[in-house]
Amino acid sequence: MRDTALLQLALGLTPPWTVSRSDFDPEARRLDIEIDFAPGSRFACPTCGAADCPAYDTERMTWRHLNFFQHQAYLNARVPRVRCDTCGVKKASVPWARPDSGFTLLFEALVMTMVSAMPVKAVARIVGEHDTRLWRVVHHYVDQARARADASGVTRLAIDETAARRGHDYVTLFVDIDQARVVFATEGKDADTIAAFADDLAAHGGSADAISDVCIDMSPAFIKGIAENLPNADITFDKFHAVKIINDAVEQVRRAEQKTQSLLRGTRYIWLRNPQTLSERQRATLGGLSTRHLKTARAYQIRLAFQDLYNQPSVQAGASYLKKWYFWATHSRIKPVIDAARTVKRHWNGILRWFDSKIANGLIEGINSLVQAAKAKARGYRSTRNLKAIIYLLAGKLDLQLPA
Ligand SMILES: [Zn+2]
Repeated sequence: MRDTALLQLALGLTPPWTVSRSDFDPEARRLDIEIDFAPGSRFACPTCGAADCPAYDTERMTWRHLNFFQHQAYLNARVPRVRCDTCGVKKASVPWARPDSGFTLLFEALVMTMVSAMPVKAVARIVGEHDTRLWRVVHHYVDQARARADASGVTRLAIDETAARRGHDYVTLFVDIDQARVVFATEGKDADTIAAFADDLAAHGGSADAISDVCIDMSPAFIKGIAENLPNADITFDKFHAVKIINDAVEQVRRAEQKTQSLLRGTRYIWLRNPQTLSERQRATLGGLSTRHLKTARAYQIRLAFQDLYNQPSVQAGASYLKKWYFWATHSRIKPVIDAARTVKRHWNGILRWFDSKIANGLIEGINSLVQAAKAKARGYRSTRNLKAIIYLLAGKLDLQLPA
């Protein structure tokens, strides 16, 4: 078998395309494959699909292909512009690459497989291309897959923001709880992000009216955005976030009290955790401190009691438990605890809503750490557009429809 015949077979070329020549330069570690078509060949119009259009003129193009062993490989061809009776003169499409890409489809598929496992910059180094060229490929496939994505079944959401760059910019994530996927990611963390989500949902076959449950932290911007844009959504305030508010109060109390009670120094993490997760020594320290009538110890007991809300058997039991807890907390004469209890009061229904919805933001926290780990490995992203593409790639469960 001649090398041109072998290459033609390996490339899977069909008429009118044939391999006419190959040049291997071992010094440059590069294989160049020349593809051509016979004079008088006819092509389909790329716009209307009409067959048998004659070539009008040609333009020479080169595409990076999968490596030939350890050597870079390139396809070269003169690509015809065809004359279509209906559409005029149009550049024909070639079966091995999409229009305006300098890479073959198979090379792009390799790149897309690699970028879901490592930073784009690392892939660029391995394949010997500049990363801006690879980002163009990433955006193309992610945008296409996003355009096809179906959001018609989305009814329950978790919403949270993630830090984008240097901690100042944010991207808000919208996670479909039932399918555990990011359905939308957008810049900012204000009420407008919810409006943007509602528009995007409608564009993907979903409906804002169909959203029945949303889990968020107590961000006033999200609360406002949901009220304005998701009319049938019940808010559940994330229980870990609710507990954290009481926890922050305990820490505030401890920090103030350690000024007069030096034995509280260095005990911060003991009060943040639950007794059953403490080490033997920490438990002994906690036991010793608990007998000393410290404000911190009382605040801690109130926090433990708040957590126990989530062990109540029903929403009715939960409501009456929370009422008793609120009375206790507001009569504690500990300012930070009273403030925290008032915050709970202002978010009462959304806290109790958990008993019916049973949704929390654990899922979105997991996605968040995935995204932040990728961001750290990549040493950040040049733009939030790049970050969003990676979010969709890692957590969007997109069907990229990569060429095989
Ligand atoms: Zn046409």
